[in-house]
Amino acid sequence: MAKHIFVTGGVASSLGKGITASSLGRLLKQRGLRVVMQKLDPYINVDPGTMNPFEHGEVFVTDDGSETDLDLGHYERFVDVSLTRPSSVTTGSIYQAVIARERKGDYLGKTVQVIPHVTDEIKARITALATEDVDVVITEVGGTVGDIEILPFLEAIRQFRKDVGRNNVCYIHLTLVPYLGPSGEQKTKPTQHSVTELRSRGIQPDVIVCRSDKPLASGLKEKISMLADVSERAVVSAIDVDNIYRIPSALHEEGLDEYVLELLQFDKDNYSLDLSVWNAMAARASLSKRVVRIAIIGKYINLTDAYLSVAEALKHGGLFYDTKVDIELISAEQVTPMLAQSSLGHLDGIVIPGGFGPRGIEGKIASATFARESGLPCLGICLGLQTMVIDVARNLAGMEGAHSREFNEETHFPVIDLMDSQRGVADLGGTMRKGAYYARLTPGSQVASIYGEEIVSERHRHRFEVNPRYRSRLEEAGLVCSGVSPDGSLVEFIELPGHPFWVGTQAHPEFKSRPDRPHPLFRELVAAAIAHRADRVAAEGKVQPLEVKESQDGAFAIGSKK
Ligand code: GLN
Repeated sequence: MAKHIFVTGGVASSLGKGITASSLGRLLKQRGLRVVMQKLDPYINVDPGTMNPFEHGEVFVTDDGSETDLDLGHYERFVDVSLTRPSSVTTGSIYQAVIARERKGDYLGKTVQVIPHVTDEIKARITALATEDVDVVITEVGGTVGDIEILPFLEAIRQFRKDVGRNNVCYIHLTLVPYLGPSGEQKTKPTQHSVTELRSRGIQPDVIVCRSDKPLASGLKEKISMLADVSERAVVSAIDVDNIYRIPSALHEEGLDEYVLELLQFDKDNYSLDLSVWNAMAARASLSKRVVRIAIIGKYINLTDAYLSVAEALKHGGLFYDTKVDIELISAEQVTPMLAQSSLGHLDGIVIPGGFGPRGIEGKIASATFARESGLPCLGICLGLQTMVIDVARNLAGMEGAHSREFNEETHFPVIDLMDSQRGVADLGGTMRKGAYYARLTPGSQVASIYGEEIVSERHRHRFEVNPRYRSRLEEAGLVCSGVSPDGSLVEFIELPGHPFWVGTQAHPEFKSRPDRPHPLFRELVAAAIAHRADRVAAEGKVQPLEVKESQDGAFAIGSKK
């Protein structure tokens, strides 16, 4: 029978519950346990698909086409699993199911209430993951203890221990231990309050993970152990690190995984830990021999989490080549054809990421043009591919004013358009192509050699496609459609012969990149950026040193989520 770990957070949001839960997941997986992860989110949206990335961070897409919270990206990257819809639960989806059942009359005339109907539905979603092939389900409860929205979740996980037995459940509570400059002390009071709040909901935590910027001062673990009524071994210090992939070993050194194994009564001798390969990967970040600067030409540039998976995938590519990728976020609105050289000329590569809506679209097209003409390595993702196609149409194929029908209904050359089957469908959500789709790569093409395979599967989330009516004209102008859907009807990959790396994909490869298995497109974008930088240095006759900024990884470290 599967065991359950519940991770809650207190004191403040953005403490890095997702990364802590994922790191524990990695440690348990590395010990040979079969781990699956789940997020319970307290908001009313049925899924995050409709939420603005600017407020909530990126929408993470799974193979089965679910639009999920970005924490699922952490889970996938750390635990190296492919998750599915049941791993993402929101209050909205719970109520939707309960209300649908009520309308069908399934509650046989009963008054439908939060307890037991909503809590039963929550428990059913947790149990659904505890299949025969799973040893441990780690469920993270979004939000902070004390929020009114999370009360049904807390009640459900409280009942859960009673339902499945004490030794099958472990509660981990993450808190903040702030350092107060004037008094020169770390303060435990917020932790105490937060544990009291959790207890008032009937949950006594088994483990307290304390987030702090410095290691816990001596005597503090003892104090927290007293206050929270847990053993001193159950008080785990989690300090800020410059690289999130170091967190598993940091938590292991604090004894977290061993203590959890004991609590859940797994025999430690059967589940020994070898973290050497993972640690070697994480250590490579400090071994970087060089730096390249790659920009994301984005729309949501005030919130780095809006492009979290893209940024992580770039870093994975850098780890592979012992190269620090200095990621810059450039607002597409600032890039114009006239200003492209001054906005982008200092870069070694660019990513034109996915997006919806017209803001910054001309800047993205101008960036594609600049990269094509100047030999700057460029990876276009989804909307990025579409802007590259528009560039070729306008500037190489003579289609003046070519555009995507998403942004210009009247264009004479809708090189990006809805497919006939999508027209007239009122429910726009229903016309999105979401989740994993196969593509056939042209033998001998750049993308086929980058992937090393000719049939690949990538995750999608978009509505518009390259318009097949213009494909031959675009190809005559030099564009190579190097990957297509299995039936040949949809363009999946593009490239440009003679350019070192000007590659676009209609999919979102960033979701499948792993720190120890970088996605080939990001890996080779970094390789092209290294070469581009070397060429520039040679041409300009001087080395332009780039500072290795320790804070760069920190920007995405624990607690980056707004
Ligand atoms: N807005 C574009 C479309 O719907 C691209 C979407 C994306 O980049 N994910 O096709």
